[in-house]
Amino acid sequence: MRIAEIYCSIQGEGFLTGTESVFVRTAGCNLRCWFCDTHYASWHPEGEDLSVHTVLRRILAYDAEHVVITGGEPMLYAELIPLCAALNKRGYHITVETAGTLYLPLHCDLMSISPKLSNSAPRGTAHERWKRRHERARHAPDVVRRLIREHAYQVKFVVDDPHDLEEIDRYLDAMPEIERDWVMLMPQGTEVGRLNLTRNWLEPYCREHGFRFCARKHVEWFGLVRGT
Ligand code: SF4
Repeated sequence: MRIAEIYCSIQGEGFLTGTESVFVRTAGCNLRCWFCDTHYASWHPEGEDLSVHTVLRRILAYDAEHVVITGGEPMLYAELIPLCAALNKRGYHITVETAGTLYLPLHCDLMSISPKLSNSAPRGTAHERWKRRHERARHAPDVVRRLIREHAYQVKFVVDDPHDLEEIDRYLDAMPEIERDWVMLMPQGTEVGRLNLTRNWLEPYCREHGFRFCARKHVEWFGLVRGT
């Protein structure tokens, strides 16, 4: 499996915010969100091909009890199945962060699904081919249904603009299986000023509509710095 980076840091998003974790970032993605903050794992994937054994050995070198498998899109790699089984056997808490477009039968303790809305499509005329692929692939409700049926989960929507809220409502209306308690709305952005501007209207909206607001604490703590 192609791995962009493995490092130990603090989870900055979602229910486990503040938890020390080893992050395993796979390289490669079947989507091309314009706002992707890890181009080195999507638009321009980097990294090296590592065996499950090597990935496991690098995780074991850290003390953390939580492992976050992220990307890119980690569900591209069937090697996740033996990796998650080996981590589970050793007692790790496993989070898998996915856009929810691909399914693998794996063990995980928290499936963190971030379905991509129409606001994510690649912009500009230079990416017409990717725009078509992205639009074909980004919405996979049957995959999301299966993931939430089989795992504890959180669903995080990236919100860029107030118009996105109607689309989220339509999405959730069509997916009554998703418990609102596990839905988080997270501002789009990679710098604190931009995040705060969205937070000013999004946090009250979450309170009024029964959603959880999802801060991007790692941006506050570290900035947009690779390996954090
Ligand atoms: S799905 Fe995630 S990793 Fe892939 S392009 Fe979108 S934001 Fe980046």
